[in-house]
Amino acid sequence: MIARMSTLFVRTLRESPADAEVASHKLLVRAGYIRRAAPGIYSWLPLGLRVLGKVEGIIREEMAAIGSQEVHFPALLPREPYEATGRWTEYGDGIFRLEDRKGADYLLGPTHEEMFTLLVKDLYGSYKDLPLAIYQIQTKYRDEARPRAGLLRGREFIMKDSYSFDYTDEGLEAAYQAHRAAYVKVFDRLGFEYVVVKATSGAMGGSASEEFLAVSEAGEDTFVRSPGGYAANVEAVTTLAPEPISYEGVPAAHAEDTPDTPTIQTLVDHLNEAYPREDRPWEAGDTLKNVLLTLRHPDGTVEPLAVGVPGDRDVDIKRLEGQLEPIEVEPMDDVELKKHPELVKGYIGPQALGEESASGIRYLVDPRVVTGTRWVTGANVEGKHVIDLVAGRDFTPDGTIEAAEVREGDPAPDGSGPLTLARGIEMGHVFQLGRKYADALGLQVLDENGKLVTVTMGSYGVGVTRAVAAVAEGTLDDIGLAWPRNVAPYDIHLVATGKDAAIFEAAEKLAGELEAAGVDVLYDDRPKVSPGVKFKDAELIGVPTIVTVGKGLVEGKIEVKDRKSGEKTEVALDDVVAHLI
Ligand code: ATP
Ligand code: MG
Ligand code: MG
Ligand code: MG
Repeated sequence: MIARMSTLFVRTLRESPADAEVASHKLLVRAGYIRRAAPGIYSWLPLGLRVLGKVEGIIREEMAAIGSQEVHFPALLPREPYEATGRWTEYGDGIFRLEDRKGADYLLGPTHEEMFTLLVKDLYGSYKDLPLAIYQIQTKYRDEARPRAGLLRGREFIMKDSYSFDYTDEGLEAAYQAHRAAYVKVFDRLGFEYVVVKATSGAMGGSASEEFLAVSEAGEDTFVRSPGGYAANVEAVTTLAPEPISYEGVPAAHAEDTPDTPTIQTLVDHLNEAYPREDRPWEAGDTLKNVLLTLRHPDGTVEPLAVGVPGDRDVDIKRLEGQLEPIEVEPMDDVELKKHPELVKGYIGPQALGEESASGIRYLVDPRVVTGTRWVTGANVEGKHVIDLVAGRDFTPDGTIEAAEVREGDPAPDGSGPLTLARGIEMGHVFQLGRKYADALGLQVLDENGKLVTVTMGSYGVGVTRAVAAVAEGTLDDIGLAWPRNVAPYDIHLVATGKDAAIFEAAEKLAGELEAAGVDVLYDDRPKVSPGVKFKDAELIGVPTIVTVGKGLVEGKIEVKDRKSGEKTEVALDDVVAHLI
C-alpha cells in the first residue's frame, strides 16, 4: 500500500508534551502516533495504529502456532464473578467501578480470569474437551495510582491475555511451557533486548511465574541477573547474600578471593602442619566443622568468623594461627550455638574450605571468609532470622530479603555468579494459576473414571500497547523513532525533494512499483515542503529505510538510507526496486 504525507492524518511536532518523562512518550507524541485524551488514556492516530496492528499480528501468529484460539470478551463486566474470587475487594482503588441505571455494580475489566473460567464452565464438562487454550486481545482498565510514561503505564491499555485449561498438573506444565516458548518467539520478533525473569505471582495467586522484561532504564521493575544466566525480578529473588565486606588495611595478598590464594593456602598449610590428616593432606575444598575461625584486624580487634569442627574426622582443632587468630573453643552444636548470639553472624556451619558449598542446613562459606572479605548466605537452622550486623540486612527464614535490599554483587542463589541489578519494563507475564479460579467459580470436568475434578489453569498476558512503547524506547535514538522492520508502520519512507516535476513523476512511479512488489510505502509527496523538513520528519517517524528521489535523478541515481545506522547508498533508478525488496 501507499500512504501519502500530503493526506496522512498526522502532524509532527517540534515540542515534546509537557508531561512526558521518557523518550518514547515524547517521540510517539511528536511523531504523530498517539495523542493524550486524559491521564493514562490515549487516542491512536494512523501511524500508531499501524504499529499496534503489527504487534498484534505477531502475537496472533504465535498464538495460532500453539493452537490457542481467539475470543473476545466485553470490557464492561458484572460484579458477581469478581466478588466470588475476592478480587472485587482485593483490587481496592485499582479498578474502575460503575453502576447501571438499576443500581447494579459493574467494573471495567482489569484482567479476565473470572470471565474465561465461567465461559469454559458454561460450555465444557469432560476431560475429553481439554486441553484448551483461548485468548483475546482486548482493552483493559486499571486505575493506576501513577499512570506514567505514555503507553508504558496507562489506565486504559490493550492486553493480550490467554488462558489454558487442563485437568492434570502435567497438562498445565505443558501449556505453560508452550506459552512461554510462544512468548520467546513473539519478543524475538519484536526486535529489542529482553530478559525472562523469575517472578512472583502476586495478586494472581498460583505458583510458577515468569516475566518478560524489556531491558530499559525507563522501566519500573528492577531485576537481577548473573553472568551464569540466573535472572529474577528482585521481588522474586529467593536467596540472600550480603555484600562482601572489605577490611581496610588487610594486606593485599589476603584480599584475593579465589580458592588458591595465598590465604587459603596459608590455612591449608597450617592445617597440614598442626592437624595432619591420616589419609591424605588437607586441600582446598575440604570440609571443616565446628572450628572457630577468627580474623585479627590490623587495629588488633578480633572478630569471630566461623565456627566449625574439622572434617569428616573427629579432630578437635582448637587453635589456628597466622592470619587466623587462635582462640580456644570447645566444639559446639547448633543448639549450643544459639546461646551465643554474638557468634551467630560468624557461624557458617559445615563448610568447604576454599570453596563455596551448601550444606544440608543451607549455611555457606566463601573463601573470602578467611581472606578478609566476608560473605554469609542463608538462614539459620531453626528458621530464625539471622541478621548480618555488618551489612544491616535481615535474612528471612527461607533465605530471602526484602526486594529493596538486594544489592549489586550479591551472589546468585544458584551459584551462577555475582548479581547485577538492572531496570526493565514488564512486557509479558506467564503464570501457573493452578486451581484457584476454577475452585472459586466451580469449574470441574469429569475425568476418565467419571469423577469430577477441578480444572487447573494458566494465565498468560502481554501488554500490547506497552509493547509499542517499549519497542520504541528500546530502539529510538537522538533524532527520532527507529522501528525494527517487523513492527515499523511502513517498510519504506520515500521522499521526493525539490520542485522538478520529473522527480515527483519518478517517485510516484517508484512508489507504485514498490507497492506492486508488496512493499508498504509512506510517500512524502508534499510539493511545497522543504527537503530539510521532509528529512526531519522521516527521521522522527522512524521507518527503517528512507529512499530519496532528488537531484541525483538526472544521473539516474536514487539515495537509499538506513534510518538506524545512517548509512547511505546510491542506487541506480532501474535497480532500486530489486535493491529494496
Ligand atoms: P505492572 O507490574 O507493570 O503493574 P502487572 O504485573 O500489574 O504490571 P499483569 O497483571 O501481569 O500486569 O498484566 C499482564 C501484562 O499487561 C503486563 O505484563 C504488562 O505488559 C501489561 N500491563 C499491565 N498493566 C499495564 C498498564 N497499566 N499499562 C500498560 N500495560 C500494562
Ligand atoms: Mg500492575
Ligand atoms: Mg508486575
Ligand atoms: Mg505482572
